Amino acid sequence: MSGFQRIAVLGSTGSIGESTLDVIARHPDRLAVYALSAHSRMEKLAQQARASGARVVVVPDDAARQRFFQAWPDRTPLPEVRVGASALADTAADPDCDTVMAAIVGAAGLPSALAAARAGKRVLLANKEALVAAGSLFMAAVRDHGAELLPIDSEHNAIFQCLPHGDRAAAPTRPAAGVRRLILTASGGPFRDRDPAELHGITPAQACAHPNWSMGRKISVDSATMANKGLEVIEAHWLFAMPRERIEVLIHPQSVVHSMVEYEDGSVLAQLGQPDMRTPIAYGLGFPERLASGVGLLDLARWGRLDFEKPDLRRFPCLGLAFDALSAGQGACIALNAANEIAVDAFLHDRLPYTRIPQVIAETLEWHAGRPSVTLNHLDDVLAEDAAARAHAAGSVPAVAS
Ligand code: NAD
Ligand code: MG
Repeated sequence: MSGFQRIAVLGSTGSIGESTLDVIARHPDRLAVYALSAHSRMEKLAQQARASGARVVVVPDDAARQRFFQAWPDRTPLPEVRVGASALADTAADPDCDTVMAAIVGAAGLPSALAAARAGKRVLLANKEALVAAGSLFMAAVRDHGAELLPIDSEHNAIFQCLPHGDRAAAPTRPAAGVRRLILTASGGPFRDRDPAELHGITPAQACAHPNWSMGRKISVDSATMANKGLEVIEAHWLFAMPRERIEVLIHPQSVVHSMVEYEDGSVLAQLGQPDMRTPIAYGLGFPERLASGVGLLDLARWGRLDFEKPDLRRFPCLGLAFDALSAGQGACIALNAANEIAVDAFLHDRLPYTRIPQVIAETLEWHAGRPSVTLNHLDDVLAEDAAARAHAAGSVPAVAS
């Protein structure tokens, strides 16, 4: 896409949302904010809307709308305020916007991401849970409606950069020619070297203290358990039409190599850079051109060495569970993601010990395996399956911490 882009940033108050606004503000000649959305933190949303000149904001309900009005400075013209989940999907498909940054956390971001794809937008996809829950539906929407899909997750953005592609972002139906494997790197999170027996009393603050990346709380916990890498394996499967056996995970504690593509001739291409999400975001916004992102230079001499090792699935059971779910099919992936969201939320609210997170996922996958299989051809089918898995997972979370 060349020329001026009007952008809807869905989930603008989050970590990815803020980084996106930072990159957009660096390029007023070619990028402008059209719409912003947030689920809470209305003061922050008002401040962002004012600074970016957004024409539209989307808030979850009337109470949030009131808080937004209260936070809005007098004498400044108000943006249009839209309310509710359907307004979110409508805004993603709005003819007045060209590009949608899908940066809502969790499966809650699926309907709006899908609406953007169905409206043929340039979709910058940070919301990996949307692909995990509805990969085939989402990729078919991209293909059928001529959307342009640019992966923002740093690993997938790295792989996208290392794959051969023309000047447009496609939704492939088979692996790129000549590619043998995709190698996703993972930092290993804050507990990479901890004895699993010591993890029982881990607090949310400890789990969210990521050594390399600054991120939202849910993905920070996912990084500690490596559920995040599991979700990313499923994400890579859908984005690049790559079978499970040809997706490898390597722990790379420095988070400098963001992922790699191995070719049949033995070549391995990698993308390197600082661990700062503004690089993949700028790539998505500028594609196929490169934009300044504000990210500093990578000083490899300062690093001196880069380390790689295979992950230990006994230490990180959530990663193994994600490989299992991918083999079992789309319904199992929905159950895995739903159970993880329920378990992580309970952990963040002190209702579940850290070490129970993989158990809730495993129990929900077992429950799912015993259910009759259902067709998942429509968004409503996916949402119903997601709701059933959430209800089951919630039942295995104690009302108070044990
Ligand atoms: P975050 O928690 O910082 O922000 C989430 C945003 O979503 C907020 O604006 C919030 O208001 C909104 N939101 C939350 N629940 C919602 C709901 N039910 N309905 C509508 N909006 C809702 O999260 P983040 O770290 O920015 O991550 C966003 C997405 O990007 C996630 O899917 C995450 O996995 C992915 N991602 C993040 C990073 C990162 O570095 N932060 C990297 C790669 C991928
Ligand atoms: Mg990632």
